[in-house]
Formats: sequence, structure tokens, C-alpha cells
Amino acid sequence: MHVKFCCPSCQHSNGVTISEKTEKLGCTACSWTRPLPADEQQRTHPQACLVCGCKDLWRRKNLSQTVGVAVVVLAAILSSIAWARYEIFWSFGILMFAAAVDMLLYLFMPDVLVCYRCAAHYLKFDPAGETPHFNLEMAEKHRQEKIRLKK
Ligand SMILES: [Zn+2]
Ligand SMILES: [Zn+2]
Repeated sequence: MHVKFCCPSCQHSNGVTISEKTEKLGCTACSWTRPLPADEQQRTHPQACLVCGCKDLWRRKNLSQTVGVAVVVLAAILSSIAWARYEIFWSFGILMFAAAVDMLLYLFMPDVLVCYRCAAHYLKFDPAGETPHFNLEMAEKHRQEKIRLKK
């Protein structure tokens, strides 16, 4: 499993690959470390954030939004060129093709787990086991908590 996180102590962004032998998470820029749970399952599909301990994680597709948007924009341009040349068949064909590409990208993109509190990203986790999808109420709860802690 691969973890991308922002160091809680110095805000440096880190990327760490967790294997069976990894004992702790650490920051490459400062001395912050946090021991990893010994439990095998927590290392392959964490139920709680390994960086901040928060128990709320959500799951989303690791599809970079730029790629998805780029496909649509490109298709719109090509399609209007075809439209301007009275190539109706191509005009619609290109749009359909772009929609199919977007859908395939979505299907084949791996899921990523995200921590509500510190936004740590967990990639290549074991897909077995349930993690709920994004929930606005939960995000709000954590946003409020962050504000409260700052005061
Ligand atoms: Zn640090
Ligand atoms: Zn976290």
C-alpha cells in the first residue's frame, strides 16, 4: 500500500510505501514518526488513518480530474469541427467515443482511500472490505472540528 500524506508537524508532503516490514511512518523533512499498527489488515486496508488516527476514511476513484476534463474538452472541440464541416456522423461519433473513454477510465481507475481529517491518501490498498463513499455530513463534522481546534 502507498500512502501520500502531509506531515502533521511540518506540512511537508510525503509518499511512503508500506510493506509488511515497515514499522512506522515518518516524515522525510523533520523527525515526525508514528508507529504503524501490527495488525496486517490495517496495513493493507486501514480502518483508521495511519497518519492522524482518525477513524473516518472515504473512498473515491483515483481518476485525475484533469484527464477526465481533457477528454471531454478535446471531444467537444473535435466534434464542433466535424459539425462545422457538416460531418454529423463524426460529430456525434466523437462525443459518444469520448463518453465511452471517460467511462472506461473510471472503471479501470483504482480506488483511493482519503482521510477526512488530514486528507492523507491511501493508494493500492486491498479492495476487500468496505469503506463508505464520500459523505458531506462527515466532511462538515471534520471541518467544524478543525475550526474548533484552531481557536
Ligand atoms: Zn515533517
Ligand atoms: Zn488522517
